[in-house]
Amino acid sequence: MTFSAPQPKPATKPPSADTGSEQPILELSNISKRFTKRIDIAARLLNLAGATYKDKVVHAVDRVDLQVARGEVVGLIGESGCGKSTLGRVVAGIHQPSDGTLAFKGRNLASMAAHDALDASIKIQMIFQDPMSSLNPRKRVIDTVGEAPVFHGIVQQNDIEDYVDQLLERVGLNRDAKRRLPHQFSGGQRQRIGIARALAVQPEFLVCDEAVAALDVSIQAQILNLFMDLRTDFDLTYLFISHDLGVVHHIADRIVIMYLGRVVEMASNADLFSSPNHPYTQALLADVPRIDRRRQTYTPIKGELPSPLNPPTGCHFHPRCPFAMKRCSEETPKLREIAPGRLSACHLNDG
Ligand code: SF4
Repeated sequence: MTFSAPQPKPATKPPSADTGSEQPILELSNISKRFTKRIDIAARLLNLAGATYKDKVVHAVDRVDLQVARGEVVGLIGESGCGKSTLGRVVAGIHQPSDGTLAFKGRNLASMAAHDALDASIKIQMIFQDPMSSLNPRKRVIDTVGEAPVFHGIVQQNDIEDYVDQLLERVGLNRDAKRRLPHQFSGGQRQRIGIARALAVQPEFLVCDEAVAALDVSIQAQILNLFMDLRTDFDLTYLFISHDLGVVHHIADRIVIMYLGRVVEMASNADLFSSPNHPYTQALLADVPRIDRRRQTYTPIKGELPSPLNPPTGCHFHPRCPFAMKRCSEETPKLREIAPGRLSACHLNDG
């Protein structure tokens, strides 16, 4: 009987934002995700008396196109409520998209046979912000990490101890950890357990949703370094979701900026930080929180993030934009190429 923990693979190619020469590992086409907020019983009763309350629809993700190259780290940035976590959950298969297609290694997940879709789905794993709430408090680590690979036939039950030992060592934990419960670990150690659990099914793509946001700054750096080591060792691709530009600047090859469900800018890490195009990106960069800097001063962006239940017309950013013109509240700017590999959605680029 043979088994092996995920073995390091040679890198297939240097990470690149250029997805044109090779099939992307992930391709989102026109992905939208809507949630409906139903009217309550009181409103239904009032409707019987002639009121006109209606269900409200939140466009959490609005027609997003994105290609990710194998081995790439794409950072997905935006304020809380901008739809980035919803998009991550769509990629990880936790939410089904309302519209659009999601292709993994060139195959549309929605049109695959059930067992092929299951195989593909375990290749995309998600790592969450709060490792305590994402781990079952009553399960020992060996069960948390070992359950899925046994279920999927990746390893036999008899071999699970060795398999979990190898995984724990790979993420920087002692083998003894496998007998313990989540509450017996620190936050950073729990996140390492979450990473081991994701690696256990031998994924190719990790969606990390605010994966270091709950950790102390020094522990954040350790976990980010672990992610980067694993990327090289296991040829992993990442969608790294964060509200923190400093964290994404540290690890991403390419950065996608979202605002109220829409992508407003997409650029390489270097281009975005050296010459942000979209006024929203410029505002975010006015003071970038840095992973190695504890004291931060912020220049808050003018105004509040509008409610996604009632987003502004035209360019969603216009009520907060210092450059807004009449056209901005009337016409939605298209996300278009402004330079090779750079996209932005702003009327100012129309010259
Ligand atoms: Fe500002 Fe108008 Fe550009 Fe939107 S389209 S970011 S409101 S200038």
